Amino acid sequence: MKNSTLLEISKTFGTPTYVYDASKIKSQYERLTNSFNEVKNLRINYAVKALSNISILKYINQLGAGIDTVSIQEVMIGLKAGFSPEKIIYTPNGVSVEEIQKVSEMGVNINIDNLSVLEQFGGLNPNIPICIRINPHVMAGGNNKISVGHIDSKFGISIHQIPLLLRIIKNTNIKVNGIHMHTGSDILDIEVFIHAAEILFETASKFKDLEFIDFGSGFKVPYSLGDNQTNIEELGKKLSKRFNDFCKEYGKELTLAFEPGKFLVSEAGSFLCSVNSIKQTTSTVFAQVDSGFNHFVRPMMYGSNHDIKNISNPDDNERFYSVVGYICETDTFANNKRISRINEGDVLCFKNAGAYCFTMASNYNSRYKPSEILFLDNKAIEIRKRENIEDILRNQVEITL
Ligand SMILES: *Cc1c(COP(=O)(O)O)cnc(C)c1O
Repeated sequence: MKNSTLLEISKTFGTPTYVYDASKIKSQYERLTNSFNEVKNLRINYAVKALSNISILKYINQLGAGIDTVSIQEVMIGLKAGFSPEKIIYTPNGVSVEEIQKVSEMGVNINIDNLSVLEQFGGLNPNIPICIRINPHVMAGGNNKISVGHIDSKFGISIHQIPLLLRIIKNTNIKVNGIHMHTGSDILDIEVFIHAAEILFETASKFKDLEFIDFGSGFKVPYSLGDNQTNIEELGKKLSKRFNDFCKEYGKELTLAFEPGKFLVSEAGSFLCSVNSIKQTTSTVFAQVDSGFNHFVRPMMYGSNHDIKNISNPDDNERFYSVVGYICETDTFANNKRISRINEGDVLCFKNAGAYCFTMASNYNSRYKPSEILFLDNKAIEIRKRENIEDILRNQVEITL
């Protein structure tokens, strides 16, 4: 989005605020579907936890995607946004069997990643087909960052437990309609992904009633100009061919599914905040903004390095700043970052603010959560109002003394 448009939005709706560019979500969706156009049945299930605003979900529904959900609440929002239950897959980890039961009664696809849960749920519902989440335990060159599920991960059913899995399925008569993996990591090396996929194919060949194979996500998006990213086009070419070959061997045209979160919404998002003050110490120039890790926790929680632009003064000389928040605790967004000269009152724009940003916001320091703006067809639409003091107090119960 253009700086002038973002600046205009910050004037109209105030700061801090999140802005999402619908056209970027659309182009990422199309990039992914085009990369896999050799596959006859492709399903993209957007991972709701990345950004769960109901208007974003409605937009993504209209693009033709389904959704991947991890809680009954995400399922409820998805249904309200208009997704039919068949287009929703529920991939819980560590939730109660009661919740899984309730979600299955809504007609949603269930993905199970625990043998004990499988036995309990399958015993109660032998007629409901389910998908099985496998942990393929693929390590790439010993680098934990691109590993796709280490041996002690809490996610998935280990491939080493496939014999036990098959026994439980036989004993309970459960019908398995899908095989799934999700690694949760930023995968750069296509070969690693293909290697994990091979394990999934081998597992899939042991099940006779499959309808789909779900390869999860883990696509890396660029965080700055020239930053590396997953080569989706190359992955599309290689995996599509392998998938089509597998379907021939299997004797049935299966659906290939993905569930990207970051890939679809990360780059579409910008976070706008205003500089309250410039503070110079003996070693550092701080730019203090009207936000903190209550609104944007990724730099502190994951060490993620978001690009920051001064959209009020984009063309001035660059200087080094530490961008920090207003929370009474250390809340450093960026250390020693080159940013075009900052004056008090300027609006800063944090890039890649679409995924895992608003959804992780809290009310720490009793601050209001920011508003959210969708930029669609050249119009800025407020899709979440900024909170007020009523919101902060809503469920608090005052005692009488
Ligand atoms: C979080 C999650 C995703 C999305 O991961 P991204 O890295 O955002 O693409 C996909 N599938 C499952 C099961 C998840 O938990």
